[in-house]
Amino acid sequence: MENKSVVKLSPPAINAPMQTRIPKHLALKWVPKENEDSELPPHVEVFLTQNAYIRMCAHAGSDLYNEVGGWMAGKYCQDQLNGNQFVVIDTILPALYTNQGAAHLTFTGDTQVALYDHLESAYPGKLLVGWYHTHPRMGIFFSHWDAWLHQNFFPHPWQVALVIEPYTSTGGFFIRQTDGSLHTQHYFGFYELTNRRKRSVVFWRNLQPIRDTGDFNKEVLTL
Ligand SMILES: [Zn+2]
Repeated sequence: MENKSVVKLSPPAINAPMQTRIPKHLALKWVPKENEDSELPPHVEVFLTQNAYIRMCAHAGSDLYNEVGGWMAGKYCQDQLNGNQFVVIDTILPALYTNQGAAHLTFTGDTQVALYDHLESAYPGKLLVGWYHTHPRMGIFFSHWDAWLHQNFFPHPWQVALVIEPYTSTGGFFIRQTDGSLHTQHYFGFYELTNRRKRSVVFWRNLQPIRDTGDFNKEVLTL
């Protein structure tokens, strides 16, 4: 029986990751200057397009007093050779229907339903990879509330969260570890997809670029 008014609160079931090559040779790796991430292997590596980065930074900088946020969409992939999993974030959807306030950002069932509808119609084939929000003058960490939201609205192990501090120009990703746990004080960097020719656009002061081409492959990936 057809029923289009069914409310979808839980995320759509996700199939296996897309099999491709990890595009490390097209990216610049940014790592935290202070908390080394070598001891805590993340479930997925995060690849971020420059457009997506700029879009989130512009949104984050639009309000230095209240939290703002939104969603990140793209692909969930697995490297064909070494099996490492990664996500590619190339689409940013700023949240419009949140209760903004200095205390915290709220995602409601309504905003989540609106999001899945919009994602399906405007970006068919893209997955909800995670969410981002700002912590003006508060620093980069995951609050209890953030952890609750993440667990309830982004339950897949490969879904990630980005916290941006627009006042001090810092930011970091919160990514589950391979055992499914998430460290609320430990953030990760990401891979900036530069497509070789472009210059970096990353300006966060808490991250530094390192060279990490992984197992180099001359085949050019279309992302
Ligand atoms: Zn927060």
